[in-house]
Amino acid sequence: MSNLGFQSVCHLFDTYREGKGVVTVERAFLPDPEELKEYGRTEVPLFSYETKSPLTEFDIIAFSIAFEEDYFNIPKILGLGKVPLLSAERGLGKRAVFDPLVVAGGVAVSLNPEPLADMIDLFILGEAEGALHLFIDRFLELCESVPGRVDRVAGLDSLPFTYIPSLYEVEYDHVGIKSFRPRHGIKEKILATKNLDLDQFDIPRSFIYTPDTGFKDTFLTEVERGCGRGCRFCAAGFLYLPPRWRDVEKVKDVVAEGVERGGQIGLIGAAVSEYPDIKEVVEAGLGLGAPVTLSSLRLDSLDAPFLHSLKEAGYKTVTMAPEAGTERLRAVINKGMTDAEILSTVEEVVEAGFSKIKLYFLIGLPTETHYDALAISTLTLRIRSLMKKGMLHLSINPFVPKPFTPFQFHPFENAVTVDKRIAGIKEALKRERGITVKALSAKEALVQAYLSRADRRAGQFIIEAAALSPARAFKKWKKKESVIGSIYREVSEEDILPWDFIGHGLDKLYLWREYQRGMDERLTPPCDVGSCTRCGVCIG
Ligand code: SF4
Repeated sequence: MSNLGFQSVCHLFDTYREGKGVVTVERAFLPDPEELKEYGRTEVPLFSYETKSPLTEFDIIAFSIAFEEDYFNIPKILGLGKVPLLSAERGLGKRAVFDPLVVAGGVAVSLNPEPLADMIDLFILGEAEGALHLFIDRFLELCESVPGRVDRVAGLDSLPFTYIPSLYEVEYDHVGIKSFRPRHGIKEKILATKNLDLDQFDIPRSFIYTPDTGFKDTFLTEVERGCGRGCRFCAAGFLYLPPRWRDVEKVKDVVAEGVERGGQIGLIGAAVSEYPDIKEVVEAGLGLGAPVTLSSLRLDSLDAPFLHSLKEAGYKTVTMAPEAGTERLRAVINKGMTDAEILSTVEEVVEAGFSKIKLYFLIGLPTETHYDALAISTLTLRIRSLMKKGMLHLSINPFVPKPFTPFQFHPFENAVTVDKRIAGIKEALKRERGITVKALSAKEALVQAYLSRADRRAGQFIIEAAALSPARAFKKWKKKESVIGSIYREVSEEDILPWDFIGHGLDKLYLWREYQRGMDERLTPPCDVGSCTRCGVCIG
């Protein structure tokens, strides 16, 4: 419920009043893990939260999918809802009405929808604002004019941002894709929606406020979208290019609305601390007496006055992401901060009175050596020595190559190497007081690494993983050629990637060149919106 993408989609359905009718939206959730088994035994079909109606009674079942880990919940929800699992099995339902249209959108599937291709009738790719109301218009029109379910689904292909997997044919050459072709008359490229002028839409926020959620005391709102820094591993940074800032007066109005609801204000965005009016927004919250938190902080955008405002606004832990332990590796990933810059920012953070710092690092980045990995512990110790008291928390995650980033061409690092490097860092820091290390193992990251670059052959794995568990299913699947290929294969700009048919405006050749620049340890300057056309996004 805290996910602003999910909240915005509910709001967009809810505010559809134009066109051909009124839309009613209701929410349905997978029962909590501890209730799931028992619920399954009841044979009661999964129902909506608002009116307790079975899922099969809805015209559309829409999923908002932010992470690959969410994929396993799709077969579970459809199974509990008694909705046929595969798109090809859906047609006329039990009471001679059509099975619901199963739709999905969200960040994970906008990067690569293929693993879910067999289960989802239609994907809406890109940003929901600017797409959803057009989709409803077309859907209602087809319901009136087209009698058959198959033709209705196909009729939705006329929208530029819809992807209907059943209308495309894929041929494989063992590990990779040999050809990906639309059927006759179907569009070749899906143009994902990107709204360059965000101010024409309502600001995403906690429209529905509920205590039953992870951020129950926080009113969340988006202040900006996209990040122009070009960190070469970052899917959120590239997918949402160009960086777009919201009108500060509108943001302040939403902050005031949040203050009225009570609790603290959470400002969301890929690079919140780079929002040009961030200080004004934090001070506005502060003036209304509300604590304000930010979803991320970039080290080089912190200065003493801003840190003092954050402290006053109730900010407790400063979270920073150096990502790599050496300057060389930070050049590879295009995060060109020197050790001296990191340390002087930490000094300012400590000076401002913060005693809790959280650091994010990635392990297994392209060209990383044993020395680069160990340098994470050296840098950590230098940072800790600047803190007179308090705690330093390290969060280490294996690097997973993501579609639509320059590192989409790069393989996942060997799992044994990743785990060895993490163990080395833990060993170097284990006797230090005031430092905690939390790390995800390579084993835990492998499933995500598989799904993030997988083609539609992964659908059967998702179904098995939902029934067994991802770890148990992966044990069975890990030796398959297509799985090894998705995880460990380095690809070139000429290879057909499973997501090549999606247009987010990013030029594939630009991503390839950025990858090469990274391997050469060359930095690329941040976006210069208005005068730059290098990645292709600002042309169209
Ligand atoms: S074209 Fe240039 S300014 Fe626009 S998003 Fe790409 S890199 Fe950034």
